[in-house]
Amino acid sequence: MFKRDSHNSSLVNGVNALKISFYVLIVILLGNTNAIVDAFIHPEIPYFDHEHIIVGSTIGIFSMIIGLIILYYISRLQKTNKEKESLIENLYKAKLKAEESDRLKSAFLANMSHEIRTPMSGIISFSNLLKEANLNQEQQKVSLDMIQTSGERMLNLINDILDISRIESGMEEIHRSKLDLNNQLNYILNLYLKEAQKKGIALEVRTSLPDEESVLNTDSAKFFSIMTNLVKNAIKYTEEGKIVFGYEINRTTEVDSPHLMLNFFVKDTGIGIPEERQHAIFDRFIQADIKDEQARQGVGLGLAISKAYVEMLGGKIWVTSNKDIGSTFWFQIPYVRYYPTEVSKNGSSWKKESLSEEPSVSDLHVMIVDDDETAEKYLSTVMADVAKKFYFANTGEKAVDICRKNSHMDLILMDIKMPVMNGYEATRLIRTFNKDVVIVAQTAYAFSEDKSKALAAGCNYYLTKPVAKSDLLKIIKEVFDN
Ligand code: ADP
Repeated sequence: MFKRDSHNSSLVNGVNALKISFYVLIVILLGNTNAIVDAFIHPEIPYFDHEHIIVGSTIGIFSMIIGLIILYYISRLQKTNKEKESLIENLYKAKLKAEESDRLKSAFLANMSHEIRTPMSGIISFSNLLKEANLNQEQQKVSLDMIQTSGERMLNLINDILDISRIESGMEEIHRSKLDLNNQLNYILNLYLKEAQKKGIALEVRTSLPDEESVLNTDSAKFFSIMTNLVKNAIKYTEEGKIVFGYEINRTTEVDSPHLMLNFFVKDTGIGIPEERQHAIFDRFIQADIKDEQARQGVGLGLAISKAYVEMLGGKIWVTSNKDIGSTFWFQIPYVRYYPTEVSKNGSSWKKESLSEEPSVSDLHVMIVDDDETAEKYLSTVMADVAKKFYFANTGEKAVDICRKNSHMDLILMDIKMPVMNGYEATRLIRTFNKDVVIVAQTAYAFSEDKSKALAAGCNYYLTKPVAKSDLLKIIKEVFDN
């Protein structure tokens, strides 16, 4: 590349030198025009004497220098004009880009504010309503449902923000485990069937492999997150018709691919996505509808998270869509089968069906360790039927102390993030003198390594906040109902 450039520039220099010599010759001739013309008219007079030639050449060279200076300035002017033109063009492009990102930023801020304010005002206004004594039972139930839905919506937003920041900081990892594909897709169908039916949309699942061949070794939590996000979107952006989701075996897998691939799809008959937005929607915080004409829930994180997860699983994601007709979201991941000889570190990650049977035990000594009063009240209410006596501690240190003084403690619900001494440390200390008490870590940290840390510290179980009553009672039933 460099050689070629230097070769070109010496060529250009040579041509320029030739041009200049040619100009000098022309100019000398022009400077002597008078003498030449006179020599033709008066051949008898010796015009080509030294004096004439020197004066003529001097005038010629002088005019050549002026000409060259003028040429130089003209070419400089042309060059500057060209530079200015390209500068203006670049400035214009930058202006358009700045306007676009300004629009995106405003859309993002408006959207984020909307997504936080809406559930917050739902929670505040319905809690205020609940304080009114004259509400009937039905109205109370509606208010409580609204508070719950709003809380869940906020929690989803926080989880999405946490997920994207973990992805971007490179902290997200793959944890492979057994994934019973057909079962999980049917589970997702049941999970969203009601929501779809409420909107009058049919929801169907299509599987291609027999159950025994549909057991994969993959990150089931990430798979669940991708699939549910696409199905939720399909329901959100569809008003009528049907949604079909499932998978097919990709028979055209590239020759150099070591695995057969599975093509998953979620096909809807919804609003569709304009072609020029189909690429951008996979970027974080980007929505197809910048002007927010549709005003639907969401901040534009789901697809960015799904894309990152699919890529971590060794696949790709894309969309085919026609505006007002519908969209099909596709993602492809390797078909890596799970064989029972492989040791699975994590169990299946999706939520189990809620428990129908309550535990029969009712005389437990329970310590609730939490620095948050709301959490403390919630847990004691949930545990009211199974506990005979409650102990409360708002730091790890107090928890260790209470446990030391009450050797008959049955169960400890241990928060992790607390002042003075955290839950890991408190658990480790308790385990030095009490190996029998059942310790359930309950924490707002929602990452898989937090679970391993809690178990390594000596906790028997791990639950993420908000702790579902059914999950807690299930543990109690499992441990104490013999
Ligand atoms: P969110 O739905 O929270 O805005 P996503 O990242 O899940 O964020 O989606 C980004 C955007 O892609 C959405 O705002 C929407 O404009 C578009 N989109 C996603 N799924 C669909 C779909 N099934 N039909 C039409 N548009 C969709």
